[in-house]
Amino acid sequence: MRKISKTEPNSRSGRARPGPAAVSDTLPPAATDSPGPERNCRLCPRLAAFRDTNRLREPSWFNAPVPPFGDRLGSLLVVGLAPGLQGANRTGRPFTGDYAGDLLYGTLLEFGFAAGRYDARPDDGLRLVDCRIGNAVHCVPPQNKPLPAEINTCRQFLAATRADMPRLRAVVMLGRIAHDSTIKVFGLRAVEAPFGHGREHQAGDVRLFDSYHCSRYNTNTGVLTADMFRSVFASVRRHLAADQTAGAASFG
Ligand code: SF4
Repeated sequence: MRKISKTEPNSRSGRARPGPAAVSDTLPPAATDSPGPERNCRLCPRLAAFRDTNRLREPSWFNAPVPPFGDRLGSLLVVGLAPGLQGANRTGRPFTGDYAGDLLYGTLLEFGFAAGRYDARPDDGLRLVDCRIGNAVHCVPPQNKPLPAEINTCRQFLAATRADMPRLRAVVMLGRIAHDSTIKVFGLRAVEAPFGHGREHQAGDVRLFDSYHCSRYNTNTGVLTADMFRSVFASVRRHLAADQTAGAASFG
């Protein structure tokens, strides 16, 4: 059942996938035009050191802060936790190349937020439609676990992504860390926007949707099913349709 927070009135896994060994020549276009951190950002010393190690170990991998992917003029932003080591950190495109991407991109395709074919590689031609994907933390953390200080430090780039989307109307937050960081970007307090799968929160003219993270761990343990994940995006679709209708009526 859909839950809406009381603020409304005011309102991973790292499974490697088949693909090219070298991706440095197929970086996503967003890497050059996003408001994200520079490739050698060292604001988080632990993550920068981990990146240095990965560059030595896997020199053909992306191994840099992963920029947002998709339409900056879109209505929907999906916020994940952080790049997976052998997923986005390898390929340079969010959620591309690991299990979480299979479920996320499959669902985005089903609900019309993506077009083309997802083939787990940044040159598969997949296009996001009225949608963008970013992360709370832009660099891969060891064991997929960023420290609180790293989440806080990287929030400035999530805020920049949000500020770079003038038509934003909906945000899907994948997991508690993405939720906690995103609500801070929107100026909400945890007590007025508690996390829970299927919960919705209103921040000005943007609706925030909570979902459990689409990681292999969560799906393998039954915490998140494909149907539970679909229901979040069905709610997003309904909200955007209603929002568009209301916007058209106000001009009528
Ligand atoms: S996580 Fe963000 S702030 Fe930290 S080093 Fe990477 S890009 Fe910079």
